[in-house]
Amino acid sequence: MDCIFCKIANNEVLSEKVYEDEKFLAFNDLDPQAPVHVLIIPKEHVKSADEITDKNSDIVGKMFIIAAKIAKEKGLDNGYRIVNNCGEDGGQTVKHLHFHLLGGRKMNWPAG
Ligand code: 5GP
Ligand code: ZN
Repeated sequence: MDCIFCKIANNEVLSEKVYEDEKFLAFNDLDPQAPVHVLIIPKEHVKSADEITDKNSDIVGKMFIIAAKIAKEKGLDNGYRIVNNCGEDGGQTVKHLHFHLLGGRKMNWPAG
C-alpha cells in the first residue's frame, strides 16, 4: 500500500522516532508547527478517525496515553494540544490515522 506512514512504521522511510512499541509509533513531524510537534500513529493502517468503531476504539485510548507520556517527557507541564484532522474539510493530508501532539508555545483558538 502506498502510504507514507505505513512506510515509516515499517522502517522503509526514515523518521525521528520519539516512542515505539509493538503496535504504535511516535515521530517528529517533518514540518513542525510548534517547538514540540510529534505525530502518534497506530502501526496498523487505519484511514482516519472516521474508521474508529466499538471494535477498535482501544487504539485511540492508547494514542492519548502515549501523547500524555511524551508530553511529560518533553516537559510540556504548562499544557499542550492534541489534534486529529479528519477527512478533506478537516485538513487531513495523510490518510493514515494520526494525532498531532503540539506544545512548547501558547496555542491559538479557534484553530484556522
Ligand atoms: P495531516 O495534515 O494529515 O493532519 O498531517 C500530516 C502531517 O504529516 C503533516 O504535519 C506533515 O508535515 C507530516 N508529514 C507528511 N509526510 C511526512 C513524512 O514523510 N515524515 C514526517 N516525519 N512527517 C510527515
Ligand atoms: Zn498507512
